[in-house]
Amino acid sequence: MSSPKKVYLFEEGHAGMKDLLGGKGANLAEMARIGLPVPPGFIITTEACNAYLNADYLLPPGLMDDVRQSVSQLEGRTGKHFGNAKNPLLLSVRSGAKFSMPGMMETILNLGLNEQTIQGLIAQSGNERFAWDTYRRFVGMFSGVVLGIPKDEFEHRLQQEKKRLGAQLDTDLDAATLKTLTRQYKDLVREKTGQPFPEDPAIQLQMAIEAVFSSWHTPRAVVYRDYHHIDHHLGTAVNVQAMVFGNLGDDSATGVAFTRNPATGENLLYGEYLINAQGEDVVAGIRTPHQVGLMEKEFPECYRQLQQIAHQLEKHYRDIQDMEFTIENNRFYILQTRTGKRTIQAAVKIAVDMVHEGLIPGDEALLRIDANQLPHLLMPTFDPAEKQKSRLLATGINASPGAATGTIVFDADEVVRLAGQGEKVILVRPETSPDDIHGLLRAEGVLTTHGGNTSHAAVVARGLGKACVVGCEALEIDLKTKTMSLDGKILKAGDLISIDGSTGEVFEGRIATMPPSLGPELATLLGWADRHRKMEVWANADTPNDARKALEYGATGIGLCRTEHMFMARERLPIVHDLILAESDADRQQALDKLLPMQREDFKGIFAVMDGHPVTVRLLDPPLHEFLPNYDHLLEEVLRLQDAGRTGPELERKETLLKKVGKLREANPMMGFRGCRVGLLYPDIYNMQMRAIMEAAIDCKQTGTDVRPKIMIPLISDAQELKRLKEQLERIAEDVMHQRGMPVGYRFGTMIETPRAALTAKKVAEFADFFSFGTNDLTQMTYGFSRDDAEEKFLTRYQEQGLLNFNPFESLDTDGVGRLVAMACEEGSLARPGLKLSLCGEHGGEAKSVEFCHQVGLHSVSCSPFRVPVARLAAAQAALKEKSNQGEHLLASV
Ligand code: PEP
Ligand code: MG
Repeated sequence: MSSPKKVYLFEEGHAGMKDLLGGKGANLAEMARIGLPVPPGFIITTEACNAYLNADYLLPPGLMDDVRQSVSQLEGRTGKHFGNAKNPLLLSVRSGAKFSMPGMMETILNLGLNEQTIQGLIAQSGNERFAWDTYRRFVGMFSGVVLGIPKDEFEHRLQQEKKRLGAQLDTDLDAATLKTLTRQYKDLVREKTGQPFPEDPAIQLQMAIEAVFSSWHTPRAVVYRDYHHIDHHLGTAVNVQAMVFGNLGDDSATGVAFTRNPATGENLLYGEYLINAQGEDVVAGIRTPHQVGLMEKEFPECYRQLQQIAHQLEKHYRDIQDMEFTIENNRFYILQTRTGKRTIQAAVKIAVDMVHEGLIPGDEALLRIDANQLPHLLMPTFDPAEKQKSRLLATGINASPGAATGTIVFDADEVVRLAGQGEKVILVRPETSPDDIHGLLRAEGVLTTHGGNTSHAAVVARGLGKACVVGCEALEIDLKTKTMSLDGKILKAGDLISIDGSTGEVFEGRIATMPPSLGPELATLLGWADRHRKMEVWANADTPNDARKALEYGATGIGLCRTEHMFMARERLPIVHDLILAESDADRQQALDKLLPMQREDFKGIFAVMDGHPVTVRLLDPPLHEFLPNYDHLLEEVLRLQDAGRTGPELERKETLLKKVGKLREANPMMGFRGCRVGLLYPDIYNMQMRAIMEAAIDCKQTGTDVRPKIMIPLISDAQELKRLKEQLERIAEDVMHQRGMPVGYRFGTMIETPRAALTAKKVAEFADFFSFGTNDLTQMTYGFSRDDAEEKFLTRYQEQGLLNFNPFESLDTDGVGRLVAMACEEGSLARPGLKLSLCGEHGGEAKSVEFCHQVGLHSVSCSPFRVPVARLAAAQAALKEKSNQGEHLLASV
């Protein structure tokens, strides 16, 4: 419902008003409400922003009158007056959407200064240097944000002045220089815009409000929202607040602090501050700030207050907070709090710790974690032995964990270009700014010279789960020559480096990585998840190694063992070629006889690892030509040999092969001669596989292994296919058991990968103990999209144009493909009570799809071992959500 009120004083709002007041505004209001030291202010609503944007950049009628009234309230509260030459009130004007978008939109500080009020500020503060520093900052910031003059132009003049005077830091500049700089900035504005810098504070305020509203549409904000799936229609609120100054001298400072470490989750106040500075200096990463722990020495009373407020806010919000604060003449103010963005590592640790601390219940901890992020926790780390051998160039601040190797790139656009060509790159910058967001999104990792743990690069990299090292002061970058020097070594764009975001180390060259394991907190969290979920989680695994990983990550069965990978091994391919090229049954049998013991050993290896757990073996699936050389390459070779006048057995063999490959070529192989179709027309292949499975099972059983094989037929589209194969393969199983004199319990089932199989599930179920939905193929065939062609040619464009709002090969299309799944489950189970239902497409490891699987009553999902934790957690989340929905229904019916 739309609110007629467009402006709220802090004391009129609360934390529940994020839609209207934005996240920052609602939290400022809440902090004011619970009595924290927040400078007074007011919020202009997101509705006012949307009204402005929808009316072609026209402010809603009456808005500025309301703003003026609220400003006079602030005057009453502070005893200062906006625009007053003797005792001026200065304001900060900051954006704040419902969801925090760090640095993506605009902020203007120190608003209200002009040639008269500057005198008042000098008188008020008794500090001329401070006053001119503040005025200089204001003119630079306002001109950049509101008047659209590139910020570099002002920065350039500042750097020139520093160079001329031999000053190291901004703080080394005196009042006279800052005054000159302010004048230079104002001249620059007149030169660039043809207009003088606006002197009237009321006009400054209106222009600033409009600029903040408009910043909702800046390209970087749009990219950020697209990436994080934030609705483009939310709009931003504007927070107008009385300024407090961190640049009043050495008893003033400004900083950012997290209540816990957002990279690791460690329960320790974490952050940094700069003495004699304003907020943007910390975030921009221009000077490398002090660690927050040092405040205990430098500002003991303020440190105590910060600790106490951090504690209070965490208890209040029951989550990690990211706070901005300012110390003005040793007085502590809090300027912002928001839920801290954290890495998935930190998210898991914090959730588990908060349960142990009694802050949140276990169910809430489970629901807080984005299950799809868990694979980041299972990212490889650098192999310590390899690391030892590599040349360490420097160590910076470990801002976001991860091990990344890539070529050096100094420019965000270049990152996008090279990443588009499939290159892995590391973005290296003096510091990053919100304008680099597109490069950060595509880089493997980020390395910066300046900035601390809360600098832009660090915050964004953590949000994206990318490796990041900041504040690497030993790194000297020359953007002109595209080179950098580190530890006396000159590296240029295109050279390889490796960065370890967990330790802050930077190495020359590539370092090999090694697979990770579950940490203690994740193991705890997943243990809780297992108590809630209804579905079993199995894994797609083709080797004993994969099977071991699957068990380690908590799978309790193999839902898909793709046997084709066993045929692809280098030493087996010649035999597979003989099998495919055989002209007679005898030749074919000879090849199969060679493959049989190999397959048997494959299965024995897997059964032994999966002792006591089911193993679902899918019989051969891909088109046969996938095992043969590429037709075009072969043709080229034959022509080359013929042209060279070569004759003899080599050419003859290649010519025969070419003919066979030519015969097997298909216009649309994914819908061609593959899966059960091959099994039916070349029964010996499936027979050999069945024999190998049963023999392996008996061998294992004889040595005491508990074997539970399940035989799965791929790609059926009619019940008759399954019936025929079942009869054929059962005979083989009987034969082996009879020969060996030992029974083995096995199950027989099918994949449901074609729409027709799903549509005729009732008939199919007659011949199946289980169904496993192969949603990769089922998605291709339901949409009529060929996966590889679609992803390469048009799927991204479809998503960009809003024709699809997700990739159906990643997240299950519940409306279409899901409907087939649901129907097949229902009809299959009716026809055959006790029919086991599973899913083994990629979707089995994607959280939303897993939730759907829970809803339609599947008994298990199966996914790659690295995604097993995703499925375990997502299955628990689905069960918990269902429980809470049922609770709501019960309440509603009372
Ligand atoms: C499927 O189609 O979903 C499936 C698991 O089979 P594959 O990916 O091997 O075609
Ligand atoms: Mg398939």
